[in-house]
Amino acid sequence: MNLMTKDLLINFLIILFPLFILQMSYLVKFVYRLDSLKGWFLSIFPILSLVLCMLFPVVIEKDFVWDLRWIPFLLGGLYGGYRLGIILIIITLFIRYLTGGENGFYISCITFPLIGISLFFISKYYLKISVSKKIFVGVSLIFFVHILTQFISTQLFDLTIGISLWKQYFTIQVIGIIIVIILWEVIMANFQVLEQLVKAEKLQIVSHLAASISHEVRNPLTVTRGFIQMLSEDVSPQTKVKYASIALQELDRATDVINDYLTFAAISPENTDRLRVSDEIKHVVNSIKPLAIKNRVDLKISVFDDKSYYIVGESKKFQQCLFNIVKNGIESMSVEGELSIHVHHAASTIQIKIQDEGIGMSQEQIGRLGEPYFTTKNTGTGLGMMVSYSVIKSMEGTIYVSSAQGKGTCFALNLPIHAYESM
Ligand code: ADP
Ligand code: MG
Repeated sequence: MNLMTKDLLINFLIILFPLFILQMSYLVKFVYRLDSLKGWFLSIFPILSLVLCMLFPVVIEKDFVWDLRWIPFLLGGLYGGYRLGIILIIITLFIRYLTGGENGFYISCITFPLIGISLFFISKYYLKISVSKKIFVGVSLIFFVHILTQFISTQLFDLTIGISLWKQYFTIQVIGIIIVIILWEVIMANFQVLEQLVKAEKLQIVSHLAASISHEVRNPLTVTRGFIQMLSEDVSPQTKVKYASIALQELDRATDVINDYLTFAAISPENTDRLRVSDEIKHVVNSIKPLAIKNRVDLKISVFDDKSYYIVGESKKFQQCLFNIVKNGIESMSVEGELSIHVHHAASTIQIKIQDEGIGMSQEQIGRLGEPYFTTKNTGTGLGMMVSYSVIKSMEGTIYVSSAQGKGTCFALNLPIHAYESM
């Protein structure tokens, strides 16, 4: 390979480097939602490429400075609009002036503004066409640039350029512009898809939210309304008391669903208390007993003596969290089985292990736990785990799930433990 070709390839790498930065910074912008980084941000790529290309050129002779500056220049003009075009012309001519070689500078003074202005007209059309046509336009422009430069240098400035060098230079530029156009299009397409995905996901969350609210909140409200209406009818005081209590229960249920959402939405619990794990578990077990009996599930509890220890959190939320996990465990067993809750004291945490003998989960399902609306049940809401995970997270705890399909699942909750100071 000719020495010059090698140098031009290095020059080409310099063009790819800003593209790589562009891709990375786009990701950063995406992850941190930096919306302010929009328009001007894309112009970093051509400007940086152009400057680097010209600062590390392949110098051939006094009047000629060879590099691949035409690639970022053309692309900047085509994609970036006239303002970027003007900036690029000024930067090119400025750097070209500093690099020296009078004739070469004059040639640039003619070619760059000329091509720059024509790019302004082509770019409107260029942005609307398919990738293959864009490549065609790019290659044609390179071709045109070469003929123009050749013509001006030989006719106006009486310079001769070696034909073999010229061929290499031309070939690398054509390959270069094709690769860069494809890369640029792929990067842009990637981010468009990414942005569409996020939008679609948001819409999905909203529609799910609407669906669950209408399902889980409207139903209890409708029932409540019915019973309140019946209160006004001529019925015995006892019946009235019964109706009122049903209406209240239903209202509580609606409140609970809303609380589930709010539990999830609240990043840190507002009313933190000192909780004793054994008390909280007793509470949850009592309220879930009817379901366990109905599904013929044995509940086995073993808790160490935790009189002198406490965890920090909000009782209602923590109970909700345990309740959701235990309920899933019970529901996972279609025939009778055993669900054990085992609490023990580890180094600086308290560990609650909730083990069932149910259907178990695949690795993929475990990975999706805590994701809103993830459910494999016909009548599931997919909110339970989302709430449990967010509660444990807000208590600065962790959840480990191990599961064997057909055998059972174990949820291990680790929560920071505190000891009462002995007086
Ligand atoms: P839901 O119970 O309404 O489906 P959850 O958020 O409580 O929603 O649970 C999400 C999913 O996680 C369940 O549909 C189930 O597939 C899976 N899952 C959770 N806990 C268990 C378990 N103990 N055994 C088997 N699968 C479970
Ligand atoms: Mg559930």
